[in-house]
Amino acid sequence: MVDRTAPSVRTSEPVPPWLEAIWQRLLDAHRHARLGQALLFSGPLGIGKRILAEHLAGMLLCVAPQADGRACGACADCRLLEAGNHPDRLLLEPAADAASGEIRAEQVRQLCARETLTPMRGSTKVLIIRPADAMNLFAANSLLKTLEEPADSTVWVLVTEHPQRLSQTIRSRCQQISMISPQLEQALPWLETRLETRLEPSAARQGSAGAKAPSGTRADAAAALPAQRAAHCLALAQGAPFRALALAETGALEQRRDLLDDLIGIAQGERDPLGVAHEWQRLELSAALAAMIDALIDSLRLGIDPAGARIIHLGARQALAALAGQIEAAAGHRFLRLLLQTRSAIDAPMNQQILFEALLVRWARLTRASA
Ligand SMILES: [Zn+2]
Repeated sequence: MVDRTAPSVRTSEPVPPWLEAIWQRLLDAHRHARLGQALLFSGPLGIGKRILAEHLAGMLLCVAPQADGRACGACADCRLLEAGNHPDRLLLEPAADAASGEIRAEQVRQLCARETLTPMRGSTKVLIIRPADAMNLFAANSLLKTLEEPADSTVWVLVTEHPQRLSQTIRSRCQQISMISPQLEQALPWLETRLETRLEPSAARQGSAGAKAPSGTRADAAAALPAQRAAHCLALAQGAPFRALALAETGALEQRRDLLDDLIGIAQGERDPLGVAHEWQRLELSAALAAMIDALIDSLRLGIDPAGARIIHLGARQALAALAGQIEAAAGHRFLRLLLQTRSAIDAPMNQQILFEALLVRWARLTRASA
């Protein structure tokens, strides 16, 4: 199915500050008729690739763009775009019922059929495929035929975290725009503003949760100022601002705090690893593994650099620094390798409880070693 899901992007608003330079390049290219007919937007998850694609659609489809190329937000085309109903902006994603998460050849063929038609409203059509690496081989081949001779009126935007998974032939047909995670100075104020406007600080939670904390991690983190909260989310999201925002909105920060409390509780001999493994059964495997990996990385970092300005769990510095003294570095790195291997094998079916028992017993042994 060709999907025209409403974008959650107001294209008349400014592009995020870390994308401004790329935006300017796209605008210059458009104004000098140098914009490619196929663009490949690549970069880490949560950095704003699709948002930039939607802004570009606004630039190309709005009838009265602003001086800096942004859509006006008021014309009929803008209203259609913001409602997700513009007939000349099409978004192709994996079908909701596709268990494999693939984009199939049939979907791409439907989109390519639309590509050959004249734009319904203006002179341009914007066709977005996301994530482009979800196209299976047949889908990619169908697209390639179209990219060899695209219709004059079309701009294709392929969005992906993994450009290397696309064939060299597809990549070579595209103007490649790669984005990297922004500097902290750019991302932090942006995220803080959004957290302040979207999230209500929960005073009640701050007051009651501290009592249960085994080592002050929960209390430390809950009392965090918005700036600290933003910094923590960004660290969890490896610097990708939209991912950080999503983490904050889905309660991932609170969940992470609980998992960290469990890990520190085990390390301090206050929690039984098998009991925690039982509780963790209902968790998403990737969230639990990420908590273990990040906690271990923080501890190993603090072992080398006690000041550890760039640790992930800023609110739990004290407890993690205490752990650092208990972990033998070589054993810590061996365990980290095991965790990373487990994460890369995550697609294989496995018994989650047995896995957590094995990992948490090993975590207990590692962290209690010389306590
Ligand atoms: Zn407009």
